[in-house]
Amino acid sequence: MPPGESSTLQQAFERAVATWEATLDSSVEIRVEATLENIGGSTLGYMGPYGTANWGTQPVDNVWFPHALADKINGGDLASGNYDITGKMTCRDDWNTDDASTDGDGYGGEYDFESVAVHELGHGLGFVGGASYDGATGNGGVRDDTNNFPWVYTCFTGSTNPGGRYLLNQNEFPEDSVPMGDVLTNKGGTSNGGAAGVYFYGDHAVNANGGAVKLYSPDAWEEGSSYSHLDSVTFNGTAEDLMTPSIGPGDITRSVGPVTQGMFNDFGWTDPFNSEACASPTPNAVTMQGMATTYTSAFLVIEKDNVLPLAIAGVLVIIFGAASIFLYRRK
Ligand SMILES: [Zn+2]
Repeated sequence: MPPGESSTLQQAFERAVATWEATLDSSVEIRVEATLENIGGSTLGYMGPYGTANWGTQPVDNVWFPHALADKINGGDLASGNYDITGKMTCRDDWNTDDASTDGDGYGGEYDFESVAVHELGHGLGFVGGASYDGATGNGGVRDDTNNFPWVYTCFTGSTNPGGRYLLNQNEFPEDSVPMGDVLTNKGGTSNGGAAGVYFYGDHAVNANGGAVKLYSPDAWEEGSSYSHLDSVTFNGTAEDLMTPSIGPGDITRSVGPVTQGMFNDFGWTDPFNSEACASPTPNAVTMQGMATTYTSAFLVIEKDNVLPLAIAGVLVIIFGAASIFLYRRK
């Protein structure tokens, strides 16, 4: 990264923050911790939320809500002074930071920093599934290992098999099972009744899309990409390109499309939470008592080298909690 570029990167990051400020409302400051360092490989950035469950006014018990959304629903900060979202952006010589770039513009071989920042902040604000897949056994799961809670995202996901639509239906899709693993890896025909892939069924998103929204669920599980993104075949090059799992050089994807906006509405950002799958307590869920539970990740390691402090003043300041890592790979 050329000397002096960090300030332009920070400006691009702040424009990404402003995009979300214009998209989602909260009376509670959202604190974002984002650092700039050399991640290596083809990963451009990763970011995620801390999760909170059972804080007292939760719309549904035993479900992880991203801190920022829990604060909004609560109408006050549940963990004052703590970050809500955290993550990293990598150092590259070929970041585009040009403010004038617009969606669809080609910027040669450069990757658009602002596009990646908008994408990563989207994960931090709730676009996160936290699914797991064991290649040795074929078992899949959508709950954390300690508390057995899903993320709010999973209150709306399911297969095309009407009898077993929702992934939270533990009769059809037991946690850590082959039927769950199959639906997460696009297999049909046997254990899940012919369903292939996984879809998002929240009302707002379905209305915006004109049908169930296909999530990224390739045949081979991709850690950090599968399940927690929109399907790339369906949505690349569309208004919903932002939350597909990868970005190419020259691609500008800074806008939050109506389907993606609909998903955030479904999570509870703009309308009362309404999930058929989460309407009743899920079997096997752990009952938590007392204070709000905070789900944090051992993954959060902020190194001191090359750190660009991106403490954003204002409505959005950006923490991390998912067990999964959310990658935005270059193509
Ligand atoms: Zn991503």
